[in-house]
Amino acid sequence: MSEYTLSQPVSQVRYVGPQKAEELEKAGIHSVTDLFHYFPTKYKDTTEILSVAEVHERLQQLALFSNIADKLTIRGIITSVSLVYTRTRKSIIEIHIADANNPLKVIQAIWFQQPYIAKSLHEGDDVIFWGKIQQKGKKIILYNPEYEIVRDGKATVHLGRVSPVYRKSGQITTPYFRRFLSEVKDVTSQFVEYIPLEVLREYKCDPLPLAYEHIHYPERKTNISLATQRLALQELLELRETFAKERQLQQVKAPPFISFTQVNSLLPNYTKNLPFKLTNGQSQVISDLISSYAETKFATDTLLYGDVGSGKTIVSFIIAALWLDAGYSVILLAPTTVLAQQHETSANKYFTAWKKTHEVIKVTSTSKSKKLLTNEPALFIGTHALLHKDKSQFGDLGLVIIDEQHRFGVSQREHFVTKKKYSPHILSLSATPIPRSLAHSFFGFNDAQFLDERPQKDYNISSKVVKHEKLDAAYTWVAEQAKLGKKSFLVFPLIEESETLQASALKERAAFLQEHYFQNIPTGILHGRMTDKEKFAILEQFASGEILVLCCTPVIEVGIDIPDASTMFIHSAERFGLAQLHQLRGRVGRDGNKAYCFLVPDDNETENDRLEYFCTHSKGLDLASYDLKNRGPGNIFGTKQSGFIQLKIADLSHFKLLKESETLYFLLKERNISIPSIIRS
Ligand code: ADP
Ligand code: MG
Repeated sequence: MSEYTLSQPVSQVRYVGPQKAEELEKAGIHSVTDLFHYFPTKYKDTTEILSVAEVHERLQQLALFSNIADKLTIRGIITSVSLVYTRTRKSIIEIHIADANNPLKVIQAIWFQQPYIAKSLHEGDDVIFWGKIQQKGKKIILYNPEYEIVRDGKATVHLGRVSPVYRKSGQITTPYFRRFLSEVKDVTSQFVEYIPLEVLREYKCDPLPLAYEHIHYPERKTNISLATQRLALQELLELRETFAKERQLQQVKAPPFISFTQVNSLLPNYTKNLPFKLTNGQSQVISDLISSYAETKFATDTLLYGDVGSGKTIVSFIIAALWLDAGYSVILLAPTTVLAQQHETSANKYFTAWKKTHEVIKVTSTSKSKKLLTNEPALFIGTHALLHKDKSQFGDLGLVIIDEQHRFGVSQREHFVTKKKYSPHILSLSATPIPRSLAHSFFGFNDAQFLDERPQKDYNISSKVVKHEKLDAAYTWVAEQAKLGKKSFLVFPLIEESETLQASALKERAAFLQEHYFQNIPTGILHGRMTDKEKFAILEQFASGEILVLCCTPVIEVGIDIPDASTMFIHSAERFGLAQLHQLRGRVGRDGNKAYCFLVPDDNETENDRLEYFCTHSKGLDLASYDLKNRGPGNIFGTKQSGFIQLKIADLSHFKLLKESETLYFLLKERNISIPSIIRS
């Protein structure tokens, strides 16, 4: 029996001091259960242990290569330990490791500046090492390897096994998470499996207690897939259940829409007075939405799916305009303040072109209620801060538009349902890469609309991987583009966990580039630590052309629309999921002119196939599938956020799993088995 329970506060777990408890709280980990739901991001597999003799053999087979790229796990006996100091007082530890059965086969290990290691290693110790080897003449050297001494009969903790790796949270790193979780290991038996065993077998799942055990304490690599499968299915089942419940709530009366005669007289004004011609797809979606609003008595709940840059915004504005004409207010919810600001600016632009007198009102957390109160229907635009306002201030609502992922997690839809007179229709816009056949049923939307084509006939963006030796030329090219008045984004990834560090690293890089390449070119910086006001100001300058090169973190990823930006330059590109790269690439070439996307990997050798695939494919769905297939379900964690729906373990671009969760869901419903909230509670 364990001394802990699932609901116990995490602060009561041994080794979790007050300070660590506070850090865990910050990461949303309050109870022992929450700790179990802090899933590993990957695993370090050091189960393939080579003897020293085997290392020699392997290198002979690869005689032409001077080193092996991957880290190796090597076991041997220490035959000597020496600690020396250089003239500059730098310490070097050098040890010799011999094969257990063949003392003539030897390799060396070297550590710099870690003198304390000499105290923990002794002649005769049986040790497992993990690190990269290099061949120097006849010598084989392991530089700065991790190590663990094998004590008689005891299992190793860190090496020689499959060990989970956790995302760092504040000061809490992987060894802490491993330690906390090993303390509560026995609690896994308290998770209750509610799905019959024979069903689990059919779906290649571990039962819940075993799944929790194997995800955090796998004995071998094969443990992980059955565990992941069970937990990911659980999360998807819960998600689906939530949507199903929301939908039940949704059976309420909707306000009446304008008549078709009125549509016919009003619509042309909106569709004609645009800087472009609507695509057939856009016109079709608009007319389908109009029909559904005109024909149904109940509040609808529609998903408008369209790949990045497919032109969802204008569709939603035209529909919004018609609802205003019907005499009802409209709300547009955006996931970020930057995006809300952008929507407000374009709404005003369109309303002016349409000679529309309805007001566009931006709602922020500090907006005063008095200012919002309006007798006339208006278009309210804001982030989720808007959800905290008293609903009555918005007057009679006809439609709520939810841009991007934002509807998930919080039950926005439920929020707007009123038992009173009418409930507004909901229109969710999404670029989540999810197949058409599944989007419809999976999310429990009453209806789904798809924008399949892009406004620009051919996707006019050339994508290219830039090797390090070409980097200089590439920056020079960006500078030349700027001299022609063309705009570039230079994206630097989130390398540091802390946004403050991130911001300072970004500033340094930008200053360097400014000095060496962009001397007379107006350059700006954008990152998450800036205030909204600063962000808007920079984006406005970029939009107007006062700034031509924008160095930024991936904050620009979601939805930013600067139509004439023409170059996207992504550093450390291999760190991003392809779906995320796709979002970034979707920021350029929006005006249909020639645009460029440059990917700069950190390392010239790694993952070239993946980035090359990206360069030759332009559909979000293809890219998400590729990552899934090639990074494998073992890496299912890596692309969790590709669709911007915050999931803990499942992946919405894992189509096979989505399909399975769908059949499993109906099977459980058929058998009257209810789905408890375990992961998403
Ligand atoms: P998303 O679907 O990713 O939200 P947006 O709605 O932001 O895409 O549209 C992308 C860009 O394409 C915007 O600059 C928009 O003005 C433009 N656009 C939308 N529809 C058309 C069209 N029919 N023809 C040309 N450009 C269009
Ligand atoms: Mg958008």
